[in-house]
Amino acid sequence: MLALPIKTLLGHYIYDANRNEILAVSKDLFNYISEVQAGEVCPDSYKSDQEFQLLQSCGYCCDSPLQDVAYPSIDLLKVKLERNLRMITLQLTQSCNFRCDYCIYSENSLYNRTHSHNSMSVSTAKHAIEFFKMHSIDNPNPVVAFYGGEPLLRFSEIKQITQYAEQVFEGKHISFRITTNCSLLSEDMVKFFFDSGHEFYLLISLDGPQQIHDKSRHYANGESSYQAVIDNVHMILDNHPERNK
Ligand code: SF4
Repeated sequence: MLALPIKTLLGHYIYDANRNEILAVSKDLFNYISEVQAGEVCPDSYKSDQEFQLLQSCGYCCDSPLQDVAYPSIDLLKVKLERNLRMITLQLTQSCNFRCDYCIYSENSLYNRTHSHNSMSVSTAKHAIEFFKMHSIDNPNPVVAFYGGEPLLRFSEIKQITQYAEQVFEGKHISFRITTNCSLLSEDMVKFFFDSGHEFYLLISLDGPQQIHDKSRHYANGESSYQAVIDNVHMILDNHPERNK
């Protein structure tokens, strides 16, 4: 029985793990379930109790219905990895002009890399795009994502890789994603992303109003980043109101 007895000042309860619910129960039933959990009584000894029977008829106080845990998609994994990759994420640079307090790549990070000047060459990115092409034969909508650090530090490379990916995936509906802190966005970049026939989506990190955003998200020299980010968001929306969606 997957039930946890809980006693409070107000009464007796059980948490039923199968149903993920907490129920008020009588003191007798509470005591019985506690004794069963402690191995002090045989689980069958209470089967004739009316309250217990009622709960069981409603699907509570039952043994786990699980017989097997299986992930059907595992059977398809090999085929998916061979032929149906959805997206490739290119970590263009490990460098960033911000030092957010909660960054998983901060110098305090125990388990991840830290900020560095390492970057991905255009040639490596092109190989990755070719790999993606070979393994996404069944995917009509491939997605290439640019990630960092701050990927806009490598805008010139983003342009080259975008054009290459569009050539490689000619005939398919290819789109691009960028995860950015948005502080470096320029009008030229906005033109390239939204006026040059490419399909780009920007994921912009903004924590909220200035006092909240600036609490954690600041430049490497500690200065506030809010105004630059919000000005650039407005630059996008002024030129492309449809992006408001
Ligand atoms: S912008 Fe992103 S990568 Fe840069 S410090 Fe902040 S969380 Fe880390």
